[in-house]
Amino acid sequence: MLRCSFCGRRAVYHRRYAGVFLCDRCMIKSVERRFRRAINQNKLVNPGERIAVAVSGGKDSVACLHLLHNYCRGKRGEVVAITVDEGIKGYRDGSLPLARENAEILGVEHHLVSFKSAFGATLDEMVRIAAKRGTGLNPCTYCGVMRRHLLNQAARELRADKLATGHNLDDETQAIMLNYVRADLSRLYRLAPIYAPREGFVPRIKPLREIPEKEIGLYVLLKGIKVHLAVCPYASGIHTEIRDFLNSLEANHPNSKFMILRMFEEIRPYLKEAVPEFEMRGCERCGEPTSTRLCKTCELLQGIGLAKRRKKLISDGDS
Ligand code: SF4
Ligand code: ZN
Ligand code: ZN
Repeated sequence: MLRCSFCGRRAVYHRRYAGVFLCDRCMIKSVERRFRRAINQNKLVNPGERIAVAVSGGKDSVACLHLLHNYCRGKRGEVVAITVDEGIKGYRDGSLPLARENAEILGVEHHLVSFKSAFGATLDEMVRIAAKRGTGLNPCTYCGVMRRHLLNQAARELRADKLATGHNLDDETQAIMLNYVRADLSRLYRLAPIYAPREGFVPRIKPLREIPEKEIGLYVLLKGIKVHLAVCPYASGIHTEIRDFLNSLEANHPNSKFMILRMFEEIRPYLKEAVPEFEMRGCERCGEPTSTRLCKTCELLQGIGLAKRRKKLISDGDS
């Protein structure tokens, strides 16, 4: 029997990059310690703050909700959960009930916003329209841009001080590599543990950024937290190629993902000079903050003949 390197109990996990074995209790403690360290080192949360958590129902966002809920309770703060229903048949319909259920278990206020009600079409419908029009855009482009748009608007309407997402170490290193491959300096610069762009944007925080995806999966399993485990049917292309490449790199050279993150943190301060400053204004169509005439969401919607109207996402008294 393999034993925990810290307490001698039965090990459940081999942390190859650190050369140690962990039992269930030490594993849980380790994840919780890393979460708190990320918050404290980067000043992600201040006492008394109201934190909106983006909760899809998947393991990362649900773990983020549980961890932040416990953390904020001890700091006179509170969390509120926001779920975006993009409208992906056979995928999101399975995760939404789990987002709701976890918020209920914790007694956290939960708000659901959907592509259908905000933009007049689900992501599935947009993908069909885009294919007919031959725009050739990847579903993830629509999904990512529009989800961020709705999360920011909903968090602002809910008067949240911060917006937390469940990005883990794997997500973060994939995003770093993707922006290298695309030579996108502005997006690369935004990959910080806390990013507060400008007025109108709720500062985004990523408290799970230093925890590998596998360890978050194990954490929810050991804690008995119910999460949705399916894979999005649209997941493909360069994102999955980079994910597979990083996983094989990590398998052959443990600690590579942490090293990619550390190296990026070293160079990030120097990127500020190279990233152009933009003047912010309101989008001509929807009023949301943007540096161009139309925000990216309205530009994408216009490309497929849809329009976002100026309207509130969260109605008063809604939860
Ligand atoms: Fe959206 Fe793409 Fe993620 Fe699916 S894989 S949820 S389409 S960003
Ligand atoms: Zn132990
Ligand atoms: Zn707009």
